[in-house]
Amino acid sequence: MTPIVAIVGRPNVGKSTLFNRLTRTRQALVDDLPGVTRDRLYGRAKIEGREVTLVDTGGFDPPADQAFAAEVHAQIQMALDEADVILCLADGRAGLTPQDQEVARHLRRTATKPVVWAVNKVDGPNLEDAAAEFYSLGVEHLFFISAAHARGVPDLLEALAELL
Ligand code: GDP
Ligand code: MG
Repeated sequence: MTPIVAIVGRPNVGKSTLFNRLTRTRQALVDDLPGVTRDRLYGRAKIEGREVTLVDTGGFDPPADQAFAAEVHAQIQMALDEADVILCLADGRAGLTPQDQEVARHLRRTATKPVVWAVNKVDGPNLEDAAAEFYSLGVEHLFFISAAHARGVPDLLEALAELL
C-alpha cells in the first residue's frame, strides 16, 4: 500500500492548489455522511521518487449550527484515521488565526501521526518576516511555501519523505 498524506486546513488556504501541483492522477470520492463536509479528493503523487496517495480534504466548512471547533475536530479525525502523515496548511497572507491555533492545539493533543505545517502564500522572501509569527505555534515541522509559485515546495517534500 502506498503511504497516505492528508492535507488539512481551513477553506481558501490553498489546499487544492498544492494538491493540483503535486498530483498526476486523481479520483473524487464523496462520502455523504450528514453533519460534516466529508468530500475528499484522492490523487497519486510522487514525493522524492516515492509513490504516495494525497488526500485533499474539504476544508473546515461548518454548517451554521455547528461550532467551528467541532468541524476542525471532525476533519482532523478523518485525516488521522486514514493518513500516515498530516500536512496542515495555513495562509501566510492572512496571518496566524485563532483557527490555526485551535488546529495546532487539537493536533498536539490527538495526533498519533507525524504533522507537517506549511504556511502557504509566502510568494516571496519579503513575506517570510510576516509569516514568522507562525513559529509561535511551537510545531516541530514548519515550512513557508507558495503552492502557486512552487516556492519552498522542494524542502517541504523532502521533509514529508523523511516522515513516510
Ligand atoms: P483551498 O480552499 O484550501 O483548497 O484553497 P485553494 O487551493 O482553492 O486556493 C484558494 C485561493 O488562494 C485561490 O484563489 C488560489 O489561487 C489562492 N492561492 C493558492 N495558493 C497560493 C499561493 O501560493 N499564493 C497566493 N498568492 N495565492 C494562492
Ligand atoms: Mg479546495
